[in-house]
Amino acid sequence: MDFSFSEQEKMLQRSAREFAQSRVKPQAGEIDRSAKFPLELAKEMGSLGYYSLPFPPEHGGSGAGYTGLALVVEQICQASLAVGAIAALGASIGGTLLQFGNEEQKRRFLIPLINGDMFCCWAFTEPATGSNPKAIATQAVLQGDDYLISGEKSFISFAPVASLAIVFAKDETGRVSAFLVDTSFPGFTVGEPHDFMGARGLGSSPLYLSEIRVPKESLLGEKGKGYHLLLEGASMERLSVAIACLGVAQAAIDLSIDYAKQRTAYDQAIAQMPTIQWLLAEMASRLEASRWLVYRTAFLRDQGKSIQWETAVAKLFASQMAVDVTRMAMQIHGAYGTEKTLPVERLYRDAKMTEIIVGVSEIQRVIIAAQLLWPR
Ligand SMILES: Cc1cc2nc3c(=O)[nH]c(=O)nc-3n(C[C@H](O)[C@H](O)[C@H](O)COP(=O)(O)OP(=O)(O)OC[C@H]3O[C@@H](n4cnc5c(N)ncnc54)[C@H](O)[C@@H]3O)c2cc1C
Repeated sequence: MDFSFSEQEKMLQRSAREFAQSRVKPQAGEIDRSAKFPLELAKEMGSLGYYSLPFPPEHGGSGAGYTGLALVVEQICQASLAVGAIAALGASIGGTLLQFGNEEQKRRFLIPLINGDMFCCWAFTEPATGSNPKAIATQAVLQGDDYLISGEKSFISFAPVASLAIVFAKDETGRVSAFLVDTSFPGFTVGEPHDFMGARGLGSSPLYLSEIRVPKESLLGEKGKGYHLLLEGASMERLSVAIACLGVAQAAIDLSIDYAKQRTAYDQAIAQMPTIQWLLAEMASRLEASRWLVYRTAFLRDQGKSIQWETAVAKLFASQMAVDVTRMAMQIHGAYGTEKTLPVERLYRDAKMTEIIVGVSEIQRVIIAAQLLWPR
């Protein structure tokens, strides 16, 4: 067992920290206020190679693996959850294309996606369900050599900037299939972005799909096997969210340490008080446990293992940790913690979103318990 990072990994981490502090941090507050997708930063991350970190060199990647992605995203999320999540989700959506796309799809889309010249959204959730794939109502009706796709999607991140969408729909056999849809096709409409309390800046919006005609070749993966693709893709996205939680929690701890040292009460820095020290110790130990859980999960994936169960464990644990740690950070900051002038309250709002995005905590528990009771 080796828990150390290579010199190359440490260098990657340092350069991501530099990018996060110099480019992302100054814009983080405004991204949160405006909730606008930060397109310029998203493109910049493409040119820095962040979306291709997990891919092997023969597919345009740097071969840094999901461990490399974790090192980078953790740093960026210390400055802004939204920007870090764009890097992580961008890489995991590209990973789905790499895993399930045919040669022609990979040839056309993979390089523009990993360079940040093109964005792809993941369109599964619908107004009536985000947890139950069997309940999706979007239809893909075969008509000659084309499919006609109709339905409605909700909360779809990247939607305002995406030129490609992975759309999940029921085909004429009633099974779920996935389609690669060009968002400029007639019938594809992006609605007004949802006004979320946190994770603002992902551009999460509804999609209205009205008889979009796509050629048969738009199927991603095998027909009727969309559920399998969904499980695999969602597993990688869960890992992304778990990584993001580390950055949010680390930022909350750093702010709390600084604040506790400079804020005085009863003629002493509040850092001198055992109650504050207990909170800091609790925060740090929970983050440390999550960090090694998440890095081990990324490492297993880099070994080529299926990590569907492990990502459910990591996301469940890390998102609870992020909520707990940011809540404790608010407590250390007192009233100032609740003020919008400080970033602490943003971290708390962002942390809460991680318990919902890409599968609520209840669904993670269902996945974890099912494997314990009926192992496959
Ligand atoms: C910031 C953000 C970005 C997002 N981006 C995307 C995206 O890019 N693409 C996309 O497709 N979706 C996206 N989503 C949607 C997200 O994945 C769903 O919101 C999430 O999966 C939960 O679905 P839901 O909101 O419909 O909740 P529901 O499925 O309606 O669940 C509501 C509640 O019911 C309970 N519940 C439901 N099912 C079970 C169960 N089996 N067992 C126990 N309890 C249960 C839970 O308490 C749950 O919280 C995004 C959401 C957010 C907040």
